[in-house]
Amino acid sequence: MTIKSNKKMKDIAKNLLIERGATIEEIANIVFELQKKYIPSLTMVDCTDAIERVLDKREVQNAVLTGIELDKLAEENKLSEPLETLINSDNPLYGIDEILVLSIVNVYGSIGFTNFGYVDKLKPGIIGTLDEAGKDPNKCNTFLDDIVGAIAAAAASSIAHNFEEDEE
Ligand code: MG
Repeated sequence: MTIKSNKKMKDIAKNLLIERGATIEEIANIVFELQKKYIPSLTMVDCTDAIERVLDKREVQNAVLTGIELDKLAEENKLSEPLETLINSDNPLYGIDEILVLSIVNVYGSIGFTNFGYVDKLKPGIIGTLDEAGKDPNKCNTFLDDIVGAIAAAAASSIAHNFEEDEE
């Protein structure tokens, strides 16, 4: 199979997120919560637009495809041991889920890291829901919760950068 165009890759990544239980609107709610205290005029449209910009990036699409694939394989018990158990049980010492999504957070620099640390700790909205759902033995969201947190953090950072440019 040939490498897909950016538009097709974006659609695939978006559909995977939706299929696994994270809609753009739910991610936008987190972005809104992260940025509203800094930008009183912020709208939900600003937040969904920012998520669309994040999903335009090839490194973000690659991280979404890779992480969700691993979650799905773990869920179907298709990985080799000990990786199968590490991922399926969301072992806190595994840590590669947080590392993988740094490629998403990286896109918008150091603000992205700060925002990601914040959502990773507090697990607001859909992130907490996905994290809880992943505790079901038949469900694995080990990568998904971090992917969603990273996309929200990157989108919040994108808004912060854009807003700063508008101010000047
Ligand atoms: Mg995780």
